[in-house]
Amino acid sequence: MNQINSTDYDVIIVGSGAGGGTLAHRLAASGKKILLLERGGWLPREIENWSAQAVFVDNKYISADTWYDHNGKAFQPQVHYFVGGATKMYGAALYRLRKEDFGEIKHYDGISPAWPISYEELEPYYAQAEKMYCVHGERGIDPTEPPYSTPYPYSPVSHEPRIQELYDNLKQAGYHPFPAPCAIMLDEKNLSNSRCIRCQTCDGFPCLVQAKADAEMVAVRPALEHTNVTLLTNAKALKLNTDTSGKKVTEVVVEVNGEKTVFKAAIVVVSCGATNSAKLLLSSANDAHPNGLANGSDQVGRNYMFHNSQAVLALSKETNPTHFQKTLALNDFYFGSPDFKFPMGNIQMVGKSQGPMYRGEKPIETALAPMMLLDTIANHAVDFWLTTEDLPTANNRITIDKYGKTHLSYTFNNQVPKQKLYEKLKSMLNLLGMHPDYLIPRHLYLKTNIPIAGVAHQAGTCRFGTDPRLSVLNINCRTHELDNLYVVDTSFFPSIGAVNPSLTAIANALRVGDHLLQRLSGQVNS
Ligand SMILES: Cc1cc2nc3c(=O)[nH]c(=O)nc-3n(C[C@H](O)[C@H](O)[C@H](O)COP(=O)(O)OP(=O)(O)OC[C@H]3O[C@@H](n4cnc5c(N)ncnc54)[C@H](O)[C@@H]3O)c2cc1C
Ligand code: SF4
Repeated sequence: MNQINSTDYDVIIVGSGAGGGTLAHRLAASGKKILLLERGGWLPREIENWSAQAVFVDNKYISADTWYDHNGKAFQPQVHYFVGGATKMYGAALYRLRKEDFGEIKHYDGISPAWPISYEELEPYYAQAEKMYCVHGERGIDPTEPPYSTPYPYSPVSHEPRIQELYDNLKQAGYHPFPAPCAIMLDEKNLSNSRCIRCQTCDGFPCLVQAKADAEMVAVRPALEHTNVTLLTNAKALKLNTDTSGKKVTEVVVEVNGEKTVFKAAIVVVSCGATNSAKLLLSSANDAHPNGLANGSDQVGRNYMFHNSQAVLALSKETNPTHFQKTLALNDFYFGSPDFKFPMGNIQMVGKSQGPMYRGEKPIETALAPMMLLDTIANHAVDFWLTTEDLPTANNRITIDKYGKTHLSYTFNNQVPKQKLYEKLKSMLNLLGMHPDYLIPRHLYLKTNIPIAGVAHQAGTCRFGTDPRLSVLNINCRTHELDNLYVVDTSFFPSIGAVNPSLTAIANALRVGDHLLQRLSGQVNS
């Protein structure tokens, strides 16, 4: 095993996605020595980036990982190991949680617990996150919008004609559609010089022209301009070792291009995505932490959430030639409706479907369908993404077995509001020029019928809180049990709300970054 003499590093960050990449960016200007470890490499720029066949059917960018469900059945999770993490593939819809999401909310199936910090504490970081990730949007239209200190940094992305028609129809019918917040580098006033060319292959695809504001482009690459920041790719963290007291991480054991190497730093931050962060802590059990690192509470890996999501395509007689479809959203049912008092969630558009995607998602059902037919369906489809909150429960959890394999045990909850939201969309369809009978469910990010494989919105496995018996992290996202160990990916979520999670992970990484800057400069102890 290589022993790297790295008293040199002040901070090691494991994982370069929304959480870790953003944190590296926040710490970069401090001059402190920072090592960013990423198990994947740079996502290759190639024509396949924009091929529905390569991305959705051949699964070119999905890792070869095998995880196991609660019955021990193997499945391939939809995870992406690259510099920038899952944001390389994300739909770049960057929403703030609602202010109410930070308090306790009663749902149909139980309680969505309160966060240990208020919306107001995160608000300045949401504003910074929106600026850093180039978010386009418009304030003051969505009635559920939380208070804000700044306008969006960029004006909203315009609707293409079919979506404008939908927007107008919804407004006319008394609903409150609003421009969806989009993190793309589009300059509509100067299209010939715009980095983003407004294409159909954004949501679920990497951006070939590097115009998506993902963690690689807006966080990692700028961070690397500072000579004190080092990125090591193909560097998979295997284990964290501690001193004998168990209060301090002393070594990060890493497999770099197949060879085991040890790195040391004063502070270690784990940001591998909710499942892999829990796995790393559980894999690091030792005499001082027999159940896994920072797991005296037995909370590591528990409370896994990933949203009750539905991708729904609506077919209409007219064609839908939209390219960038993800410009409209609607929160009218987020907290409920007069006929259903419980929260239902968010409706938004999803990336425009293409024929090969159906083949990728439903290989068996579409096996006999000619591609021309699938293409015709896609030409007429308007595609929606419905999100209902799933509630944290102790038995929805990540564990590892004696071979170190990852198990994801998950039982669905809060299904009634999910169904209600679907019915709400259906009932609106006659206003949209679409026949309700044409509405069919579609699982956009799922290739097979194993729904838990769609881990895109995974969160909650190391939740933060004030009570060390019920949480893994304190409010600074430092583990309760180790003085120099932090977690900054979506693991920290105590509840997940019903909007996409990245902006909250990014804002929180900036918040934790400020705490670490204070700590590194000696202004606070830990
Ligand atoms: C297809 C798709 C569409 C999405 N669309 C949206 C959207 O529109 N809006 C939104 O808000 N969210 C979206 N998401 C979700 C969003 O991408 C994630 O919520 C976000 O990236 C999570 O950030 P993270 O830091 O927790 O994890 P990630 O961004 O996944 O980063 C984790 C990083 O850790 C690395 N890693 C893992 N294990 C190790 C290890 N042992 N050693 C070293 N490195 C390791 C991984 O390779 C990865 O780079 C989407 C996701 C997908 C897949
Ligand atoms: S819409 Fe813009 S940001 Fe998205 S993939 Fe296309 S060019 Fe890239």
